[in-house]
Amino acid sequence: MKVLRAESAGFCRGVERAINIVRDYLKKGRAPVFTDGPLIHNRQMMAELEAEGVREVGDYRSRSKLDLNLSPEEKENAVVIVRAHGVTPERREYLKTLGTEFRDATCPDVGVIAGRVRLCAKKGFSTLVFGDPNHPEVVGILGYAEGRGFAVRTEADLAALPPLGDKVCMVSQSTMFPDEFEILAEKVRERYPDAQIFNTICGATRSRQGDVVRLAEQGAEAIVVIGGRHSANTVKLATLVERQGLPCYHIETLRELDLEQMKRYSVVGVTAGASTPGFLIDEVCNTLENSKNY
Ligand code: SF4
Repeated sequence: MKVLRAESAGFCRGVERAINIVRDYLKKGRAPVFTDGPLIHNRQMMAELEAEGVREVGDYRSRSKLDLNLSPEEKENAVVIVRAHGVTPERREYLKTLGTEFRDATCPDVGVIAGRVRLCAKKGFSTLVFGDPNHPEVVGILGYAEGRGFAVRTEADLAALPPLGDKVCMVSQSTMFPDEFEILAEKVRERYPDAQIFNTICGATRSRQGDVVRLAEQGAEAIVVIGGRHSANTVKLATLVERQGLPCYHIETLRELDLEQMKRYSVVGVTAGASTPGFLIDEVCNTLENSKNY
């Protein structure tokens, strides 16, 4: 079977940076190395890091209090690391009170979004974040809006907003579809003509989405998308495959792929989310390359 592997498949720079930060602490013999919620949205990679000594504490949205239960000596050697998705400023301050070293592994691209929102909020703007209100990145970004932030995804969400006055800014969760952002941004401009609009979808998201279109153009008859089911950018890639009119197989690992079913295709595309480790992608590509189609 011919396999077309997307060039961008796998770790983005934000995920790679977060993993490197954690591993650097492990290499230095620091322990325990805590992450506040999942460092990245990939269960297999988190399991690998756990085997190396990382301890995930807290909850999915980084809201619950942490009971680290450490002696003063243990605190000296421990470190608490902020996830790649970032956290609210309140959470950041809270984590700093735990008595351990504090290290921020927020992706720089998310940091830029948070910084923009912070600046706009200081100038009295209300903030609209195009994104999923339950995603930790959006929860974190909204924390910078000084109580005047709202997650919006549809025109109905805009219609349901309280009166905001003229000073409105709009940003995006980093992993959204650019075309959908532009459509909603146009609606925001109609309602708030002076709105300041920043398309903050990150480069890694754009290149991964672009590669799905390229795989379709190169003749893929179906596309396998590897990555966490709770990974926003991976789910978007799967949706994009369906928009190309191609069969999509969204899997977390090779075990979920029905290899018999795949034999009906002679050319298969493979891509992966920004938090999917290379070993999972290699495994799928190698297996498909070695299987014969009907
Ligand atoms: S997908 Fe984009 S914003 Fe998210 S971690 Fe990767 S580079 Fe950063």
